[in-house]
Amino acid sequence: MIPGPTPVARSIQDQMGRETVAFGDPSFVKDFKELLSDLKVMWKTEGEVFVVAGTGTMAMEMAIANSTKRGDNVLIVTHGFFGDRFVELCERKGLHVDVLASEWGAIVPVAEIERKLHSKKYQALTVTHVDTSTGVCAPIAEIGQMIKQFDDLIYIVDGVCATAGEVEFVDDYNIDILFTGTQKAFGVAPGLAILWAGQRAMERRKNLGTIPEYYIDFYKWLPVMHEPIKYFATPAVNLVWALKEAVNIIKAEGLMNRYARHQKVGRAMQAALEGLGFRVLAEHGCRAVTLSNVIYPAGIDDASFRKTLYEEGVMVAGGLAAYAGKMFRLGHMGNIDTHDLVAVIATIERVLFKVGYPVVLGSGLGILQRELLQ
Ligand code: PMP
Repeated sequence: MIPGPTPVARSIQDQMGRETVAFGDPSFVKDFKELLSDLKVMWKTEGEVFVVAGTGTMAMEMAIANSTKRGDNVLIVTHGFFGDRFVELCERKGLHVDVLASEWGAIVPVAEIERKLHSKKYQALTVTHVDTSTGVCAPIAEIGQMIKQFDDLIYIVDGVCATAGEVEFVDDYNIDILFTGTQKAFGVAPGLAILWAGQRAMERRKNLGTIPEYYIDFYKWLPVMHEPIKYFATPAVNLVWALKEAVNIIKAEGLMNRYARHQKVGRAMQAALEGLGFRVLAEHGCRAVTLSNVIYPAGIDDASFRKTLYEEGVMVAGGLAAYAGKMFRLGHMGNIDTHDLVAVIATIERVLFKVGYPVVLGSGLGILQRELLQ
């Protein structure tokens, strides 16, 4: 139940166990092509999509490398640990970095971002859609609307803990670059980065000329993404198949239905956890639905709670930075099973009881069931 990797459905797992074929095998080329086309259509962009072996962090680097050059100004909006990750990444590249950071659990108001963007010319803006360290969901659509007044600003959205679980559309939201990894709401094993680049982003890439980076250069991959028979660097054949199966599952469910399911499940889990005495770190109005980051009620020791929970078959993640020891993080994104969520809340109740917390058994479960039935 950690927020990534998330549970991998059997049919997706099976794709990773298939006999590997040559990347030039006509059947693989066809599969890869269909996958790329689906990703573009479903996340609605007239631009490009890249599926490249690597993790979310590589995608962060790919986004920055293809949209900025040394000396450019970048504004980083951060709601936690993963927003902060952009700071060092951009500084190493020789960018001038300004940071707008919220208190953990809150968001930077859109008006504040607007004021900052007026204060000087920025070439790029980064926003983390859901910061996994805080469970805060940024108003990426609203920010996308607001930035229309700024010419030549590349809007980069980190969707690692959001894409395929929280609503996101590339062109509709005025996003220039959106990226994610396979291990979260797509429900695939870790190992692939998915990056959408809209037309403005591709125009920016063109104007940069030759960039220092090699493996993550859009222009190295573009011919492969247009014609997967071409070679630049060996694609992760089995992971591509696994992602294709994940996309097929999403198509069968319906992307909008998937978002609605995440909404319902996220709110239900948060209500149940609150009912048990936990405090959701993210404020109302900016709570992600892909995971819950909750602070312990007084008297619960993080290490023994999580150890007992693990012995009972449920693994959650600990809090990061100042929240280490004070909070746990529970993912409920991707192809998560409703029965598992019921079992998880029941297990949390049982463990609370075991560690001596005055819990009314069934109280969290009751809330969860009622919320799920609504
Ligand atoms: N951004 C966010 C929001 C994340 O949650 C993560 C990973 N948890 C990353 C970036 C980095 O991704 P990866 O670990 O796949 O490199």
